[in-house]
Amino acid sequence: MPTDTNKLVRALHYATEQHRNQRRKDEAASPYINHPISLLHILNVEAGIEDNNVLIAALLHDVIEDCSGPHQMHIQLRREEIREQFGDTVLSFVEAVTDDKGLPKAERKQAQVDHAAHIPHGAKLVKIADKTANLRDIANYPPANWSPERKTEYFAWAKQVVDVVRGSHAGLEALFDQAHGQQ
Ligand code: NDP
Ligand code: ZN
Repeated sequence: MPTDTNKLVRALHYATEQHRNQRRKDEAASPYINHPISLLHILNVEAGIEDNNVLIAALLHDVIEDCSGPHQMHIQLRREEIREQFGDTVLSFVEAVTDDKGLPKAERKQAQVDHAAHIPHGAKLVKIADKTANLRDIANYPPANWSPERKTEYFAWAKQVVDVVRGSHAGLEALFDQAHGQQ
């Protein structure tokens, strides 16, 4: 029976492989894996969350949506791989925070607002950490060429999503509010 630490390290390794050739959108094009690791830090170190399924889902939260390049595989196969290696609960959290890339961007943004109330509690925690990490990035290492208006729009949308799931974890929500206040 693998230990929690063992499963977490396997998830970190899996995410590193999947995001190997991806970069963030900041000027320096930072390694993408920095972002899932930021979520892990926010959830565990800053908010004190110990639920291993939540921590693993944070590491894997962008692997279905964003993977490309030599590791790209059919989404259904990737789901099966996550289920097999990390279990149904982790898969349900990752799926709940995965956007439908078939929808136009504006509809995807609205879908997050509409769906957030109905996702599992653990997935809500991952979602709040994701928005917190992205607001910190926009404040400190913003995507190249984003206008102040675009940053403001993103901050407002992130708050709209988080407001839907408030009451999930006071400490985590306080971290989001702090990041939102940086604007
Ligand atoms: P995107 O969804 O294209 O980009 C934001 C996402 O990029 C984040 O959610 C994050 O996702 C990822 N990301 C990668 N690097 C960074 C970084 N350094 N900092 C923060 N996030 C990063 O942008 P928008 O949210 O603006 O979505 C597009 C919407 O904006 C559309 O509705 C479109 O109509 C509108 N738009 C507005 C413009 C304007 O000037 N106002 C111009 C163009 C479009 P993840 O966590 O998944 O990595
Ligand atoms: Zn993310």
